[in-house]
Amino acid sequence: MRPQWRGVIEEYRDRLPVSADTPVVTLCEGGTPLVRSEPLSAETGCQVWLKYDGANPTGSFKDRGMTLAISKALEEGAKAIVCASTGNTSASAAAYAAKAGLTCAVLVPKGKVALGKMAQTLVHGARVLEVDGNFDESLELAKDLAAHYPVTLVNSVNPYRLQGQKTAAFEICDALGRAPDMHLVPVGNAGNISSHWMGYTEYLADGVVAEPPQLFGFQAQGAAPIVRGAPVANPQTIATAIRIGNPASWEKAVAAARESEGAIAAVTDREILAAYRRLAREGLFAEPASAASVAGLIHMASEGTLTRGATVVCILTGHGLKDPEWAIQGAAHPPAVPAEAGAVAAELGL
Ligand SMILES: *Cc1c(COP(=O)(O)O)cnc(C)c1O
Repeated sequence: MRPQWRGVIEEYRDRLPVSADTPVVTLCEGGTPLVRSEPLSAETGCQVWLKYDGANPTGSFKDRGMTLAISKALEEGAKAIVCASTGNTSASAAAYAAKAGLTCAVLVPKGKVALGKMAQTLVHGARVLEVDGNFDESLELAKDLAAHYPVTLVNSVNPYRLQGQKTAAFEICDALGRAPDMHLVPVGNAGNISSHWMGYTEYLADGVVAEPPQLFGFQAQGAAPIVRGAPVANPQTIATAIRIGNPASWEKAVAAARESEGAIAAVTDREILAAYRRLAREGLFAEPASAASVAGLIHMASEGTLTRGATVVCILTGHGLKDPEWAIQGAAHPPAVPAEAGAVAAELGL
């Protein structure tokens, strides 16, 4: 019998801040597919791999950090958790709180929350409160609540979230037998890029890998505070998961890009949607924000800034079913056919 994947805490226990007394709350997150992309490799001249973190239990990489944040909240005696979220954090928090038997409060900004994510948050029994304000204001409110009431904040400012999310870097190195040359990732609150750098530098320090990758983070053009060098008051992008005007892990992300000799750059919504459709045609359904990494890769290829033969990993952060409107929008209405094999074959050109 082959043992199944045990979730990121058990798989990387010695690299995470847990003890024998920590109650492990897991949905067996992590262990996600690293899929080679033949079309993107051919187009870019690189060895392109796609880390499909949409295959996590609640459909995004947020589960990697949430297993640790909720386990530690339980260990510390919390009765409730709170988060501000545009969707995936709340979906993950709600699921792990349900698994742990904790109350989960979710503060959502008014409007623009993707339907699939809200469905998850509600079905897992979270208490959802719609805040009259944007994401950044909702986060301040959640921090305020956690500071003054017996509630644990599980947004990415919770240090355990980043600790758990660094396991994506471990998995990539373990699968490739080395670190990639380049690691591309969408950037919203900038927790993920910071945590991935943490993971790579830990493997490097312990001699598990010989070289670190260059990290490239991609913001959406209308929500690119790090690229502009100033907070964006009204961030705009179709990629809701990275529609962030004032990233919580701003300095850490800038340090990750600088220390790894990478960069933080912006891609347009048009580039994001083009990458989103391309990925779907390769069988990988990722939500629009997730496609920012691949949009960035294609952008760099068009600028001629890629090194031929480089091993490149693009993180696909969340599942496409989270935000299905973009898949349905613009699709042709299915043609009607009579219930006859001949007519169907004719329609299909067989
Ligand atoms: C949260 C999220 C992001 C942004 O990650 P940060 O750590 O906030 O930079 C990107 N894509 C998806 C699908 C997400 O859920």
